[in-house]
Amino acid sequence: MSKQFKIIIVGGGIAGLATAIALRASNRKIIVLEQSSLNREIGAVISLQPNASKIVEMTWNLAKTLQAKGSMVDEGFQVYNLDGELQMRIPLSTMEKYGAERMLYHRVDLHDALKKRATSKEWAGEPAEILVSKRVTHCDCEEGVVYTQTGEKFHADLIIGADGIKSIIRDSILGTKIPALRTGHSAYRMILPVDKLLSDCKAFCDVVDPRAPYTTMVMAHNRRMIMGPSRNGSVYSIVAMVPDEDMNENTTDTSWTTHGDIPKMCELFADFPEWARGPLSCVKDGEVGLWQLRDIDPLPTWMKGRVILVGDAAHAMLPTQGQGASQTIEDAEAVGTFYTDILDGNDAPLEQIKAINEKIFACRYRRATTIQQYSRQAAKPATEEGSVKIKMSPSEFMDYNCSYNGALKWARQQTEQERVADDFRKMSIAEREVKTQEVAL
Ligand SMILES: Cc1cc2nc3c(=O)[nH]c(=O)nc-3n(C[C@H](O)[C@H](O)[C@H](O)COP(=O)(O)OP(=O)(O)OC[C@H]3O[C@@H](n4cnc5c(N)ncnc54)[C@H](O)[C@@H]3O)c2cc1C
Repeated sequence: MSKQFKIIIVGGGIAGLATAIALRASNRKIIVLEQSSLNREIGAVISLQPNASKIVEMTWNLAKTLQAKGSMVDEGFQVYNLDGELQMRIPLSTMEKYGAERMLYHRVDLHDALKKRATSKEWAGEPAEILVSKRVTHCDCEEGVVYTQTGEKFHADLIIGADGIKSIIRDSILGTKIPALRTGHSAYRMILPVDKLLSDCKAFCDVVDPRAPYTTMVMAHNRRMIMGPSRNGSVYSIVAMVPDEDMNENTTDTSWTTHGDIPKMCELFADFPEWARGPLSCVKDGEVGLWQLRDIDPLPTWMKGRVILVGDAAHAMLPTQGQGASQTIEDAEAVGTFYTDILDGNDAPLEQIKAINEKIFACRYRRATTIQQYSRQAAKPATEEGSVKIKMSPSEFMDYNCSYNGALKWARQQTEQERVADDFRKMSIAEREVKTQEVAL
């Protein structure tokens, strides 16, 4: 007799909801356990790179839903130095090169669209169910059981750890606590109505049109402003990165976000061009958050027994390339793809689940951890000390990051690369020299 394939997803952030979408199918019972009331997604702009917007907008068919909320195609980067001079303008036109656009969404809109896509009856497959205020405390990976703070137990054939950078599922997999690492960076974040910028920050708007779909950066040695619009150009988001001074460290709290002190922020950006500083003094008290930016080192594994990690729980990274959520979406698509042939709970003995999780890990690990390392590199000082000449480009890693067409193609490509590398290793030195010359020609 056919029995349901039971899936528990711990965490209802972008990773948890995206994985619920990817796993949705008939005869599957998906429950998302979320510790919060799920109404706290912050107001900020999030950009999805073509590698991920392709999955969200095309594979999961959310283009129209997001368009109705005011999604925007990002047309390029423009980078200014500390003297206010335009250093580079890089048009992106990623559709032709990577098969999808670089998209700008309001975070709340993306989260809502994913939630609806995972839980609504409008789409094929059994809708996922989200249970809020369920804080998971630990998990028995081999037995497939998660335990909540209130003493409830949930059994599943497959458990997805999508519980973010402070993941407790990760601790259960690795048998030890993996701390999130200080990266030396903090970020002030704010979102302003464009009408307010147009009326109160004229000098800024003379340089940057806040309605135009461009990512604008102003870069100094160890501070930078990264800015862009969303919701059809009606709001404008600013992330202002500074060296971390532990100023928002609160070890008793589960969050690294605190109230941002506006005078302190303005002081830290006092040497930025006057036009760029305009919006910083235009925000009101209470409208600025300060995030301590953390990441993790590559983990030895993401899986054990019936459990696998996705998203920040597996590979939290700095936001310097806008790839954190994008890698999360890729994880979700990979999980859905490799579980396609599991039609019901009869297909889910432990050995089968382990074998599939190993395939997902093999497909995702190298790519996600490479991008994690690129994100650290992209956070390095943008200029030599005392110079205004910018020595890095925001498009530096784009080809690797964005040339992605789903997990199956990537896995095939990887296998092919490994086969070529293997053949090369087996060759004699003379044969290798001939091969190298052939490639050079
Ligand atoms: C300043 C900044 C800017 C960024 N900008 C971008 C960008 O432009 N583009 C991009 O791609 N990425 C960006 N990112 C990264 C991106 O936000 C993250 O990579 C992404 O949100 C990770 O999603 P997640 O679901 O894995 O984790 P989270 O968003 O942290 O979600 C985890 C969820 O699990 C829940 N949870 C945690 N513990 C438990 C528990 N024990 N029991 C039950 N539930 C639990 C939490 O409440 C939460 O809802 C940025 C990050 C920062 C800090």
